[in-house]
Amino acid sequence: MFVLYNVNGDTMNIENIKGIGPKNIKLLNKLNIHDISDLLQYYPFRYEIIKKTETKDIINNAKVIIDGVIESRALIYYIKKNLNKISFRINNNNHLYNIIIYNRQFLLAHLKIGTNITVMGSYSEKSNTIIASDIRFGLLPIIPKIEPVYWTTTGLSKKLLSKIIEEAIKISDNVLDYIPKYLVEKYEFIDKWKAVKSIHNPNNLDDLKKSRLRLKYEELFIYMLKINYLKERNKKDKLAIKRTIDKEKISCFINKLPYKLTFDQEKVINEILYDLESPIRMNRLLQGDVGSGKTIVALISAYANSMAGYQTALMVPTELLAKQHYDSSIKLFKNIDINIKLLTSSTTKKEKNKIYDDLENGLIDLIIGTQSLIQEKIKFKNLGLVITDEQHRFGVEQRDSLKNKGTMPDILSMSATPIPRTYALTIYGDLDISSIKTKPVGRKEIITKIVLEKDVLDVLNKMKEELNNHHQIYVLAPLIEDDDNLDSVNVLEEKMKKAFPNNNVGSIHGKLDSSKKEKIMEEFSNGNIDILISTTVIEVGVDVKNATMMVIFEANNFGLSTIHQLRGRVGRNDLQSYCYLVVKYIPERLRILEKSNDGFEISEYDFKNRGEGDLFGNRQSGSAGLILSNVMKDYKILVQAQNDAKEFLNNSEKQDENPQVTSIIKKMSTLN
Ligand code: ADP
Ligand code: MG
Repeated sequence: MFVLYNVNGDTMNIENIKGIGPKNIKLLNKLNIHDISDLLQYYPFRYEIIKKTETKDIINNAKVIIDGVIESRALIYYIKKNLNKISFRINNNNHLYNIIIYNRQFLLAHLKIGTNITVMGSYSEKSNTIIASDIRFGLLPIIPKIEPVYWTTTGLSKKLLSKIIEEAIKISDNVLDYIPKYLVEKYEFIDKWKAVKSIHNPNNLDDLKKSRLRLKYEELFIYMLKINYLKERNKKDKLAIKRTIDKEKISCFINKLPYKLTFDQEKVINEILYDLESPIRMNRLLQGDVGSGKTIVALISAYANSMAGYQTALMVPTELLAKQHYDSSIKLFKNIDINIKLLTSSTTKKEKNKIYDDLENGLIDLIIGTQSLIQEKIKFKNLGLVITDEQHRFGVEQRDSLKNKGTMPDILSMSATPIPRTYALTIYGDLDISSIKTKPVGRKEIITKIVLEKDVLDVLNKMKEELNNHHQIYVLAPLIEDDDNLDSVNVLEEKMKKAFPNNNVGSIHGKLDSSKKEKIMEEFSNGNIDILISTTVIEVGVDVKNATMMVIFEANNFGLSTIHQLRGRVGRNDLQSYCYLVVKYIPERLRILEKSNDGFEISEYDFKNRGEGDLFGNRQSGSAGLILSNVMKDYKILVQAQNDAKEFLNNSEKQDENPQVTSIIKKMSTLN
């Protein structure tokens, strides 16, 4: 993504901020903050309104904010190890309240009689007590204050992060505005720099609303500008590959498959073959629920491409998946003359060099690997088709880096997190969309159950039953934020070993090097491991047919689409499969997983309730440049931005008058 903010015209590093050391820089990087502009764009995820609670609203269990003067000596009580409380009384306009705050020993020395403080917490009527979650020194401001709240990571306090952002604003003095002037006037948008400052430190709600609106509009306008530009250009693209495809051979191949393709699989294959033959470049998104059989569609496309004399690159998000696709394509194409190679980080240097040479000489027809296939700037003799599996489609700029010796490879992006069609048409407006909705015959619905943690014995009993039937089980470790979940994997592994002493328990997580991961997956695949403890590294694509049960601990920490993906690891043949969601309490949203096995339906629900963030797997779907805006919730703004972007692209006078906006288009056109 290009830099939206141009601060003083210089590139500014976070090192320029007062008091930031290497430790904090590392933590900031964890939040995807690498420079000042990232900091300025690290918008609060919510706000807290600091306003005195009126006496009539101080009722039992209510959240309250009050100020007052300390009237009694603050006393500390040590309850047990790691638990203590401070207790004292304050006077608020002649109303007395007892205050209790836990584990803030360091406050004790400052809580002197006569000190003015502000208390935030919840009120308990019975003992006239406020259990404080926060105590601040000084009285409340007369005018209510709106305080930003930022997501942060362990080790970096919210307070420090706010301070760093405040400092970043101080040392910057302007930002480039990417909304054309006539549109700023038309919508009476406020000044951009003012909006940036205000979103981090709003004076009042009205200002905040205006700031958010203008920043959202800008993101969506640029996004639509890029998409519309690409769409137009794609139509005129003279670099596409036109092939002739031997359909007979393809039919013959399909007839020899061990199963019959579903109706939708056949339909989609035809759409792709049509694109490959056409002189217009293919840019297709294939949406299909987990288990709908996208891999075979990809491999048949690769086969067609290779028969026409072109190379194919198949890119997947994890090495695990790369290995699996490699194994299955070797099996699938065993009687066919097609040279397939796997490139991962565990490929030795010598092998790698050989692969590079063979790709350049055109000896390899299909190369399978992770994203590095493209990033490593590998040279192909005649790359004709790029397929990405289970990851976002390419960013608009990235896609353009794929050009290959004067031609543009066709692109097929596959995704198992479908998004509702209306939105897909807008945000993926430059793509054609194919969907697989039918599932292979004979599949049973996965039975999903939500179980309270206290009833975990029921889950263990069910596990025992499945193990007795010689089936295998995935156990998902609780998600610990900002962590590779090593601890939670280890803890669970020990527990499972104790609970099932006669079974083999193994574990896999992101920190293992890839050869170890492969080895463990292989052991799970061939049945040597009965229970596999895992993090979300197995979220995508892994295909082990004998696995019939998945247990997800602390399921409420996972997004719906993620859980749906995860449970897609079971139910991969005609055996009845189960997914157990273990929770401390039952959040309503998880219920949809019990009711529905349809990824499209679940994503629609998720979309409506959480926005698209979760669908893209990360909190900020920053890859599309949409940080503040949400294509679902801000759909109206999106449509407006779409129309405005189209108009701008068709009006050269307006383009001349707004060089900063035109530079975005120029940048994209020079990528070619
Ligand atoms: P996904 O769409 O989630 O990537 P896969 O391509 O991994 O799904 O397919 C899931 C499983 O279904 C694989 O084991 C595959 O061999 C099998 N499969 C694919 N198509 C069919 C079909 N038409 N009939 C039966 N099984 C199929
Ligand atoms: Mg898949």
